[in-house]
Amino acid sequence: SEKFTPITLDELPLRPELVGEEPYGAPQLDVPVCLNVNENPYPPSDAVREQMGKAIAESARTVNRYPDREAIELRTALATYLGFGLGTDNIWAANGSNEVMTHLLQAFGGPGRTVLGFSPTYSMYPEYARNTLTNYVAVPRSEDFRIEADAVLAAVEEHRADIILITTPNNPTGTTTPVSVIDEICTRLAEVRPDCIVVVDEAYQEFTEFPEDSALALLPRHQHLVVSRTMSKAFAYAGGRLGYLAATPAIVDACRIVRLPYHLSGASQAIALVALANSREMLHRVDALREQCQLLQQWLREQGYDVVPSQANFCLFGRFEDRHEVWQKLLDRGVLIRETGPDGFLRVSAGTPREMKAFREALTAIAPTIT
Ligand code: PMP
Repeated sequence: SEKFTPITLDELPLRPELVGEEPYGAPQLDVPVCLNVNENPYPPSDAVREQMGKAIAESARTVNRYPDREAIELRTALATYLGFGLGTDNIWAANGSNEVMTHLLQAFGGPGRTVLGFSPTYSMYPEYARNTLTNYVAVPRSEDFRIEADAVLAAVEEHRADIILITTPNNPTGTTTPVSVIDEICTRLAEVRPDCIVVVDEAYQEFTEFPEDSALALLPRHQHLVVSRTMSKAFAYAGGRLGYLAATPAIVDACRIVRLPYHLSGASQAIALVALANSREMLHRVDALREQCQLLQQWLREQGYDVVPSQANFCLFGRFEDRHEVWQKLLDRGVLIRETGPDGFLRVSAGTPREMKAFREALTAIAPTIT
């Protein structure tokens, strides 16, 4: 048969902004202790797993047909889960909040438009922007990694922002932005830049001390506000790929224009419904993880590390002379954490007590130099 001659990526007529780019992602390695992507380490119970299997088998009965394009049942279940008086038409869902964010940028960003993020923050934001041809501007946070209304307003005006992304708790710092600050930002924006969309990424909200202190409470007051959530973290459902947002119904309609038809498969909808019907069980380790995260921060401080106070299920610690070397030495001992955030810092996720012990022992054994 004819020989297949592969060519390299360099030889393809890529969009110029993609030349030299690498696919995003933390290393996926098969190691005993994975504390690198802020997952919930507890798998579902056998009872929930069985229900998921049955739901998928049931959805396969109609796999010859397209699934519900509007995912009505799922969006209704998500609205019920969130509360705050939200209904089906306030909710949009997609394959992870990554896709939800992409829908928002496709709808409200694009050529000639600018999105602001507050760095250090989630490293995917510039990539969503690049993929949707939106200009991305990184505005530095304060020294203690917080966001202040004055600084946000000044940056919005300076860069003529069309969208701002406020991540609370923020990844990778774990620091939060109070609802009162978000309220002030939205109120003042209505005066100076009324068309600006404010996206609050609450991916880790359920891990905070007061999860009900959410920007969701502000939705009735601010028509340009969007709150993004995910089932990947506290909900112990990263592999299911389900993210969602809450906003005024017109914003949901905007997302419906840009989404690919039938973007959520029948199996995705069916299994997510099972997870939501068992939300108490899916979330039941959140208190334990929150506690592990606080114990972890305390222990790191006692060892002399600089630890950023975190309300999420991970924390940043340092400062290392050579963070890559520390990351590699931990990996050599079977503990995978994340090389991300400001210079000299590493990020570690909260895990099971056994995983936390393995992390502490490995870090103690390598005794890294801190500055
Ligand atoms: N937002 C933030 C702040 C995150 O840290 C993550 C996951 N790392 C996401 C969004 C995306 O999560 P997913 O696509 O799994 O919903």
